[in-house]
Amino acid sequence: MSNLFDPTPGQDYGLCKTCNKPIPTEDDKGKHWAGDGEGHSISILNQSRADRIERHIQQEIEDALQSAFSAIDDYLVRGHFTEEEVTKAMQTIHFEVDDGWREYSNE
Ligand SMILES: [Zn+2]
Repeated sequence: MSNLFDPTPGQDYGLCKTCNKPIPTEDDKGKHWAGDGEGHSISILNQSRADRIERHIQQEIEDALQSAFSAIDDYLVRGHFTEEEVTKAMQTIHFEVDDGWREYSNE
């Protein structure tokens, strides 16, 4: 397993901007908010592995969608279908990313 998405070792997860207190881990963020730091604004300096992976996956899906939209737009510009026909066709698509992935990864 690579460490590409691991947080930077030895760096705090975040910093409370309200009381200037370091927040060592993501758990400490919850503890701070639940304790004397209720309502405080915390800036995240060193995202957790889960957050980094989530951001990466979201970006990949967004890129794929942009690419699909661009290809569809090319057809539109060339007059192969109308905006109305595209909209109608898109309304028939009910795609769940996680279902699609399950199908793909079980092949
Ligand atoms: Zn605070």
